Amino acid sequence: MPRYDLIVRNGTVVTEWEATPADVAVADGRIAAVGPELADAAAEEIVLPSGAIVLPGLIDPHVHFNEPGRAGWEGWQTGSAALAAGGATACFDMPLNAHPPTLDAASFAEKRRLAEASSCVDFALWGGLTPANLDALEALAEEGAIGFKAFMSSAGTDDFPYADDDTLLRGMAIAATLDLPVAVHAENETLTRALADRARREGRTGWRDYLQSRPIVAEVEAIGRAIAFAEETECRLHIVHVSTGRGVAQVAAARERGVDVTCETCPHYLVFAEEDVERIGALAKCAPPIRDGATRDDLWSALLAGEIDLLASDHSPAPPAMKAGDDAFAAWGGISGCQHALPVILTEGDRHGLALSRIAALVAGNVADRFRVAGKGRIAVGNDADLSWVMRVDGWNPIPAAGVRYRHPASVWDDVPLGYRVLGTIRRGETIFREGVVSDRAGGRLLRPVSPGHGV
Ligand SMILES: [Zn+2]
Repeated sequence: MPRYDLIVRNGTVVTEWEATPADVAVADGRIAAVGPELADAAAEEIVLPSGAIVLPGLIDPHVHFNEPGRAGWEGWQTGSAALAAGGATACFDMPLNAHPPTLDAASFAEKRRLAEASSCVDFALWGGLTPANLDALEALAEEGAIGFKAFMSSAGTDDFPYADDDTLLRGMAIAATLDLPVAVHAENETLTRALADRARREGRTGWRDYLQSRPIVAEVEAIGRAIAFAEETECRLHIVHVSTGRGVAQVAAARERGVDVTCETCPHYLVFAEEDVERIGALAKCAPPIRDGATRDDLWSALLAGEIDLLASDHSPAPPAMKAGDDAFAAWGGISGCQHALPVILTEGDRHGLALSRIAALVAGNVADRFRVAGKGRIAVGNDADLSWVMRVDGWNPIPAAGVRYRHPASVWDDVPLGYRVLGTIRRGETIFREGVVSDRAGGRLLRPVSPGHGV
């Protein structure tokens, strides 16, 4: 007689290949069985409502929780609660916006300590790659960094300088010896800085002016350069938040000729267009910026063609005072979205014919594979019992204000209709979100990448 701790019943379970009715049994925090009518009289049961869809826990590879130092912007407790309420069981936190930024072993250890104290989801930490810390990359790897993040254009905070070409090339060479990926924010610094300076000098500070100061060519050029450097150094490269089909096409072409490069995009680039930025204002400011409708359609074509590897929220909040006003260059650039990402992509996926199994790969399986996180990302026997269940809902269903868990709840998603609702989330067998309530226990653990030599 099998011994399970928990059985999640009555759902349609999404695997890599299909969505099929099944129960999921959990023992010791891991998935012990997936199949029809699993039984253990002693196990706790969660009986899902008819129509519930069970997905692997979302792994968000790109969030900015800003703690330590700027916890007033977000923080591990509120940020991880938002993730749990959004069906996520793990995240990767970016090395900037916290103060100090994550540039050496001590800052890594301090962020890890804070996350362990207050995160209800498991977490990995990116280390930074800047001109100031090339000699600290090895120590960051030893601490367990999931990879190194570099900015090819200004990052918006003074304590995280962007990586000039010399820094980026040398950093990639070091990352290659450590067998860790480098993730780049790919926009051309010279071009974006000159365009922004000229616009401000001439008093052109509206939303269109901001969008035009970060043109598509600035992204396309930087992606091409990053790929050239990765090819030269044999570094594993990941391009974060690609906003254009042209950018994705470069990644696909490089991969075709054997370069180890992947890319992600974010829900906001798939949903909004320039006119929405004019309508919404500062909340919709991000970099690279929201593009025109035709570019958004190109990005969808690339996603449907299987050329985009991952989806990430790039959850990047700031206090309300920094997301206000009409000077588009003065407002903080960053969009909150880690709780909305899953319902948004499920809703849009329905409209565009993106299968549930593909969505599960984009938000979980591919993330675990690309960054070598063992035992996560799929609903499969032996993996961590990380899952969420969602329901299709009819009509106009933005997440109600009281249910939004961000420290500063206002976001671009406030009036976006959602066709799905997240009902529950389990992390390593433990319920972290159910019936609108986020668990007040922390319990999140550091995820380290598995090196190939140690076997996955
Ligand atoms: Zn970001």
